[in-house]
Amino acid sequence: MEYTRLGMRARKRVALIAHDNKKDDLLRWARENRDALTKHELFSTGTTGELLEKTLGLTVGKVESGPLGGDLQMGARIAQGEIDFLVFFWDPLEPQPHDPDVKALLRIAVVWNIPVACDDASADFMFSSPLMSQEYARLVPDYQSYRNRRLRERPNGG
Ligand code: PGA
Repeated sequence: MEYTRLGMRARKRVALIAHDNKKDDLLRWARENRDALTKHELFSTGTTGELLEKTLGLTVGKVESGPLGGDLQMGARIAQGEIDFLVFFWDPLEPQPHDPDVKALLRIAVVWNIPVACDDASADFMFSSPLMSQEYARLVPDYQSYRNRRLRERPNGG
């Protein structure tokens, strides 16, 4: 597999999402890290974004609520290179109606090698990294050869 590098700027495009039982945890973490968050461009699923705006006064670009497709929209933005970083406090103790979407979002974040923090300890470690305030070129497989191979391996060649 060949690799290529995709750049992220010092000002990162950060997606913040929390399931209902984890929203208080995310709001607490965001309050503690408000100054750091204001250095970046923030995006959220609908309810999480509303709460971040109302309780912390942050400016957040919102997509649909998670169960209504917001996780998938955020996944699409990652695939389009529009999100650099995912903070996703998913609930490990309750099934969600949109569990397949949650899995899809976590999967696509790994496909595109973006940093993912799923609890506040991970988010603390990642946000205290010097890389948060620097440009960074993440390593991504060269998916063009993957696309080409898929085409070549079709029966009848196309
Ligand atoms: P919400 O969605 O921010 O609209 O609650 C989050 C989720 O459940 O994925």
